[in-house]
Amino acid sequence: MDQKESDAVERSELVSEDGKNIKSVLCQRCGSKVLCPGMAAFAEKELFLPSMRKKTSLTSSSDGSEGDTLSHHWLVDDMYVFENVGFTHDVGRIKYLICADCEIGPIGWHCLDDKKSFYVAVERVKHA
Ligand code: ZN
Repeated sequence: MDQKESDAVERSELVSEDGKNIKSVLCQRCGSKVLCPGMAAFAEKELFLPSMRKKTSLTSSSDGSEGDTLSHHWLVDDMYVFENVGFTHDVGRIKYLICADCEIGPIGWHCLDDKKSFYVAVERVKHA
C-alpha cells in the first residue's frame, strides 16, 4: 500500500493530466537529453531489461538473466521523436535503447515486430 502511494506521488510530478512527460528525460549517467517534455506517453507494461552496463558488454554477454522487470515507461511511437538515443544490436527481435553519448543502457526497449513502440524505462532515466 505504501509503495503504491509513493508511486502515485512521484507519478504526479512526472506525468501530466493528459498522460505525457512533464519533464525532460535525461541519461542518468551523463545527462544527455533523450526526450523533450510532452513528447512521450506514460505507459504501464512489464518489460524485462538487463542490468545497466556499457554497450560492449551488453551485446557480447550471452547471459541475459540478470536484470529487472520494469513496469513504468515512456512510450514513443516514432524514433525521430528522440533528441538523442542509441540502439544495441538486435537481441532476437528486441533492440535495447541506450544513451547516445555515453552508451550506458539499456534505458529502454523496442521490439522489431512493433515499429511504433519505443519504451524508455522511467526508473532508468533522470527527469529534469
Ligand atoms: Zn549518457
